[in-house]
Amino acid sequence: MSSAATSPLCVTARVPAKVNLELMVGPLRPDGFHHLATVFQAVGLHDDVSVEPAEDWGVTINGPYSDLVPADDTNLAMRAARLLASEAGIDVPVHITIDKDIPVAAGMAGGSADAAGALVACDALWGVWSSKTALEDLAAELGSDVPFALLGGTAMGSGRGDQLAPVLGRGRYAWVFALSDVGLTTPEVYAECDRLRSGLRVPAPTPSASMMTALRLGDATLLGRALSNDLQPAALSLQPRLEEVLAVGMDNGALGGIVSGSGPTVAFLVSDTERSLDLAVALTASGAAPGVKRAGGPVRGAHLITAASGPRGSFGSTGHETGHIGPTGLRSS
Ligand code: ATP
Repeated sequence: MSSAATSPLCVTARVPAKVNLELMVGPLRPDGFHHLATVFQAVGLHDDVSVEPAEDWGVTINGPYSDLVPADDTNLAMRAARLLASEAGIDVPVHITIDKDIPVAAGMAGGSADAAGALVACDALWGVWSSKTALEDLAAELGSDVPFALLGGTAMGSGRGDQLAPVLGRGRYAWVFALSDVGLTTPEVYAECDRLRSGLRVPAPTPSASMMTALRLGDATLLGRALSNDLQPAALSLQPRLEEVLAVGMDNGALGGIVSGSGPTVAFLVSDTERSLDLAVALTASGAAPGVKRAGGPVRGAHLITAASGPRGSFGSTGHETGHIGPTGLRSS
């Protein structure tokens, strides 16, 4: 085991939430995952993951969701930090602080985002400077959505969602997220999806031409029509109240609405920021959504926002994005 090459005091990575613009769920694979074809978009709801050397491994979660997130070794950020440490032969424990703004257990991959943030922050703190591929491999080991949280932007995911290809689309999109106080876990929604489709032949999932056309043209109206999620019938079957949320959104100017991932958040695409405010007000006033968030997309994946000096130059602690970070949010190497 070796100690870290340099020991900056504290390194912070910012990580985005995601929405699945399209989520095609294919047959079950022998490993228990489903074959997926999905299009992810990273959206501007962020967690900040900070790491600093400490006597012992530990994690603190700040913000309104702190009660919902485990502050122990099961925390996905902690698992990510320990995985990188063991791969890189690092023997310096860190304390992780997560400033959490991504809703928890909401189908927006907040835990996966924190894992990606911990990888990027610890990689810089310890001066490991892993290659892009090495970080991606660790991310895939941690969970299906973690590689996308590293990459950001808009990307197609295949396999179990972890094999990514960036989508070269145009446009910036305005989103409104109707949060929910009903519980839905990812495993139960997949199980319900399997139950609803039992006895049916499930084809191999393939991305739709209409989604690719909408993204290529940067046409929000077309994109609104192309949104689709094979998990939506299962989420609605388990939580029929989400139907009402979808109806309120579509009646109040949304170009499209969709259950986000496995839910229970419902994501609405609107034409611009002004409409997003109108829709947020309408959703709140209707009483259908206990909470609403607005965000733009696509945004970049996990990236450093503050760091002390490292082996490849110095970083300011200004809160601005600095350093050797490529357009995807990963350093090129
Ligand atoms: P998925 O990635 O499966 O779509 P999700 O986006 O619906 O999940 P997350 O916010 O990632 O939900 O949280 C799922 C569960 O993971 C939570 O209930 C929580 O107990 C656990 N968890 C572990 N670490 C974290 C973390 N750092 N942030 C949020 N949740 C975490």
